[in-house]
Amino acid sequence: MSDVVAWLRRDLRLHDNAALYHALRDNKDVQVIFIFDTNILDKLDDKHDARVAFIHDSLNILKSELEKTGSSLKVFHGNPVEVFKKLKPKNVYANHDYEPYAIKRDEAVSKIPGITLHTFKDQVIFEKKEVVKDDGTPYTVFTPYSRKWKAKLNAFYTKSYPTENYFGNLISAKPTTLPSLESIGFQKSNVPFPPRLIKQDVIKKYKEQRDFPAIEGTSRLSVHLRFGTVSIRDLVRLALKKNETWLNELIWREFYQMILSNFPHVENTAFKPAYDMIEWRNDPAEFDKWCNGQTGYPIVDAGMRELSATGFMHNRVRMITASFLTRHLLIDWRWGEAWFASKLLDFDLASNNGGWQWAAGSGCDAAPYFRVFNPTTQAEKFDPKNTYIKKWVPELGTSKYPAPIVEHKFARERVLNAYKTALATKA
Ligand code: FAD
Repeated sequence: MSDVVAWLRRDLRLHDNAALYHALRDNKDVQVIFIFDTNILDKLDDKHDARVAFIHDSLNILKSELEKTGSSLKVFHGNPVEVFKKLKPKNVYANHDYEPYAIKRDEAVSKIPGITLHTFKDQVIFEKKEVVKDDGTPYTVFTPYSRKWKAKLNAFYTKSYPTENYFGNLISAKPTTLPSLESIGFQKSNVPFPPRLIKQDVIKKYKEQRDFPAIEGTSRLSVHLRFGTVSIRDLVRLALKKNETWLNELIWREFYQMILSNFPHVENTAFKPAYDMIEWRNDPAEFDKWCNGQTGYPIVDAGMRELSATGFMHNRVRMITASFLTRHLLIDWRWGEAWFASKLLDFDLASNNGGWQWAAGSGCDAAPYFRVFNPTTQAEKFDPKNTYIKKWVPELGTSKYPAPIVEHKFARERVLNAYKTALATKA
């Protein structure tokens, strides 16, 4: 094994990869590796988990790209600290990951005697405290954050790292065999993976089309951003040319990464502590109906069924289903967050947590507690011909479709009272 390792994690590409660029620029004989981390995989109950299959597919692509350069990809399965103790490289290059588990893991790797861990910003344009208020504290509201983000942006931050110029510094090696999915305890998944394709036309019309789940009005790049099979710098350059509304969505992603890294308590508790005083009803039977798309509210059921079948749900529908669980059923946002985390192909702790806390009202820049989405009027507005709903709820209008689980007006009053009581308790 080489003394120098580029350790890929959520950056599964050779092109424009900050850690790989620095490893190659400063060294010779660099070995690219990936570790199937058992600390993460052991927690996944579904052995057909699509995320693992997606990673496996992406590693196959990387493997053939590396082999074209005369190098190889080495893939391990285990606890990263143990893997590195055996491999004993002197220098490990990796990109920043802002999730609490990843931060602890990287700290542990950096403490292994004989190893120096070099880390770099890669998956965002601005990280941690790079975009802060004038007094140096992190923003907690999106609009001023995005304004400052845009003001700070210049060509330096969006320039790609020219890794290709240094491929000669990859180690020369014979092709390796990747461990099969089965050998690491998983199986192929039936979930379709959106192509790694930037649809210029979709991005051009994004502002007009993004809210309608029946049309292909969004990029479907979230899984690629999640696993770094596309470069954020390439996407931001494109967004700057084509569509500011789409750029704003990429900034929302950075906003939530920034929130998680500066306020890691959000992983388990409300951003606004008063919201931890809410007395959730947490009815398990109602939760099951929500998970299985049997609430009797067609747009909610369509979304939940789409999620189970495809690992994806349109953003508008994520907002409606999350609001329904927390507001109409008064079920703790953490239950819904965990369900989404187990099903979403693009699951990302920062964005998922941000989306859920937004819907529950407990987040930093959240929907106000008194704004309770009406799922029926939302459906009329965003799926006026029932096209999306009919696709996922074909039995709509027949006796097979359940009656609404709760009446909207009643649920609205119930949640307003529960929220008011909680917020008054804290005050
Ligand atoms: P596009 O609309 O084309 O947007 C481009 C990219 O911008 C997305 O791929 C994504 O990376 C980012 N983005 C867009 N909207 C948001 C947003 N509101 N917050 C953060 N980033 C955004 N997104 C995830 O990537 N992972 C999650 O686990 C996740 N969970 C969510 C949970 C809830 C309750 C809600 C309301 C939203 C969640 N989102 C999550 C945000 C958003 O729904 C998805 O990013 C989007 O639907 C992905 O589709 P797309 O790639 O076509 O996005």
